[in-house]
Amino acid sequence: MSFFGKQNILFLKGFMILFLSCIATRFNFCLSNNPFSLKTLPLEGHLSFDETSLNKASKDFGNRYQYHPMAVMYPKSVSDIATTIKHIWHMGHSSHLTVAARGHGHSLQGQSQTHGGIVIKMESLKVPEMQIHVGNSSPYVDVSGGELWINILHETLKYGLAPRSWTDYLHLTVGGTLSNAGVSGQAFKHGPQISNVQQLEIVTGTGEVVNCSEKQNEELFQSVLGGLGQFGIITRARILLEPAPSMDVERHLSRLNYIRSTLFQTEVTYVEFLDRVHVSEVKLRSKGLWDVPHPWLNLFIPKSKIHSFAQFVFGNILTQTSNGPVLIYPVKKSKWDNRTSVVIPDEDIFYLVAFLTSAVPSSNGTDGLEHILSQNKRILEYCQRENLGVKQYLPHHNTQEEWRDHFGTKWEIFSQRKFVYDPFAILAPGQRIFQKTITTS
Ligand SMILES: Cc1cc2nc3c(=O)[nH]c(=O)nc-3n(C[C@H](O)[C@H](O)[C@H](O)COP(=O)(O)OP(=O)(O)OC[C@H]3O[C@@H](n4cnc5c(N)ncnc54)[C@H](O)[C@@H]3O)c2cc1C
Repeated sequence: MSFFGKQNILFLKGFMILFLSCIATRFNFCLSNNPFSLKTLPLEGHLSFDETSLNKASKDFGNRYQYHPMAVMYPKSVSDIATTIKHIWHMGHSSHLTVAARGHGHSLQGQSQTHGGIVIKMESLKVPEMQIHVGNSSPYVDVSGGELWINILHETLKYGLAPRSWTDYLHLTVGGTLSNAGVSGQAFKHGPQISNVQQLEIVTGTGEVVNCSEKQNEELFQSVLGGLGQFGIITRARILLEPAPSMDVERHLSRLNYIRSTLFQTEVTYVEFLDRVHVSEVKLRSKGLWDVPHPWLNLFIPKSKIHSFAQFVFGNILTQTSNGPVLIYPVKKSKWDNRTSVVIPDEDIFYLVAFLTSAVPSSNGTDGLEHILSQNKRILEYCQRENLGVKQYLPHHNTQEEWRDHFGTKWEIFSQRKFVYDPFAILAPGQRIFQKTITTS
């Protein structure tokens, strides 16, 4: 008998097989997490691995969180997005790759970023071209999910039409605001933007391209609206339009009930009115004050609690508000669809209270980032302590326990839908609701 006994040889063989299969799995794992596997994809657009693109994709308006992606994709077609996601989906749990759709990157806490994954620059997706349908009763426009609202306004105005519901700032993308809700001063009348969309085209977390509406694939339609990007990437949306309002100020005023002494008037065009925040943006940019940290806090407060909230918060916590504007809008629950993913308070009327702070360093330190963050913390702690039934808008939570709390009775359905449409948790990892699990053997 040789130096190796028969048993030893068997053992050695078994060991070698195990060793080789480990190497193969490792190789597969490495390959799947290697840019090489992506470079072979047949795309009309392209993937970029250069540092400038990666650095840009690891920043957002909040200017506080930075996650470095492995690649940035500039899609030219919906099939580019579907092919990429399907590729990652096929790798299952052996790949750590995740995908973050990036609209205009105006998130506050890294929601449109991914650590080591692929950022899809949605603004590159210009097809199909914007199509306006001037019907007799309900006109609409079909737009790309990466389209900016300001561009939609300019295009629809050519037909005397405009979307019915807005955000206060129009340099945001359709996919980005529909993933949250899209709220502004018109929301009390027409509801949020997610109540004014008729149809969507979605690429799910398995790479399927699905058309959905209230009549077709309704569950996916409702999931995606206010769904924080968890169920699919919005590649196309059908937005409802209305005749753009005229400048007849007297007529508009005659329909309002208001305190006469509080009236002041500024005459601007409809575009100037809707695009007003952009004017401030240009000014702030010129002073280097746009790219500062923005520790914003947006809350939905039930009407029955708004007085106590205002008394405590403005009386005890925010004794000076020079860190930025505070917006307060009343909204009607009846204009929101409870079947969507967005979470709102359980009262007929609630208020959006938005603390839009900028952390500009100063000599006495009172308007610094830490100071604002501690104020935000105190506000949230107060809401929790007093059990006000407040919900965060553009929510940010650190643990899944907090997310469960945020969704309340909607959590079960939210997580079930996640399992159906994005079973490997590939999409929108920057929201930090679900974590992709990876197996290396
Ligand atoms: C100056 C300013 C003013 C604002 N004003 C308002 C306001 O008045 N009302 C309001 O409601 N909000 C407002 N917001 C908040 C804004 O709606 C959100 O920050 C929104 O997410 C930003 O849109 P975005 O296109 O930059 O999306 P991003 O920040 O790029 O993305 C937001 C989230 O949506 C996901 N996502 C992006 N595109 C898609 C897509 N096509 N399909 C699926 N998921 C996608 C991302 O992965 C991410 O999770 C404002 C923000 C800023 C910075």
